[in-house]
Amino acid sequence: MGGTFDPIHHGHLVAASEVAARFDLDEVVFVPTGRPWQKSRGDIAPPEHRYLMTVIATASNPRFTVSRIDIDRGGFTYTIDTLRELAEAQPDSDLFFITGADALEKILTWKDAPDLFHLAHFVGVTRPGHQLRADGLPMDRVSLLEVPALSISSTDCRRRVRSGLPVWYLVPDGVVQHITKHRLYAGGVGD
Ligand code: ATP
Ligand code: MG
Repeated sequence: MGGTFDPIHHGHLVAASEVAARFDLDEVVFVPTGRPWQKSRGDIAPPEHRYLMTVIATASNPRFTVSRIDIDRGGFTYTIDTLRELAEAQPDSDLFFITGADALEKILTWKDAPDLFHLAHFVGVTRPGHQLRADGLPMDRVSLLEVPALSISSTDCRRRVRSGLPVWYLVPDGVVQHITKHRLYAGGVGD
């Protein structure tokens, strides 16, 4: 599951847990992006903080792991590179890529889009406020799954922190503590 995870929240975790159960996955690898090429906002939290928050949020689940590949590659992050690297590292694994409805909608604009579907089976999950559709996507390589609806976004979490509102119960407790300890999202402008 790729994402900016700025910060990781319970919407991400519930989606991952549901897909893991329904598709009987051995492992869910969370891959925080290096520099997301489609996000224009310049104030993304440093990769190390996004990585650490992802580790904190997933530490208690034995099937959840976090990979640094996109952060360590440097430059813009393209999912095609992520999948190629994972496939090369684990040639015997069947790869699944978990994505929310909003991201799935844009997938044909991603770099080398047709090749993505050779490398992984895509699982699109429902997300409040977005239509889950796979128009124009190869249906033998894409599944759509309804997951428990959590109307949480990282954008909203950042805004809440900036406004002094709580993010308890939207993100895991350890992530709240990490945000507070390092004063993340406190001093930014605009979004
Ligand atoms: P931002 O508001 O900064 O874009 P976000 O909440 O959308 O953050 P991302 O890191 O952009 O989080 O998302 C990573 C992946 O998780 C995407 O595929 C996205 O669609 C999915 N996702 C995020 N939030 C949810 C949610 N509440 N329910 C289902 N899927 C989600
Ligand atoms: Mg997003």
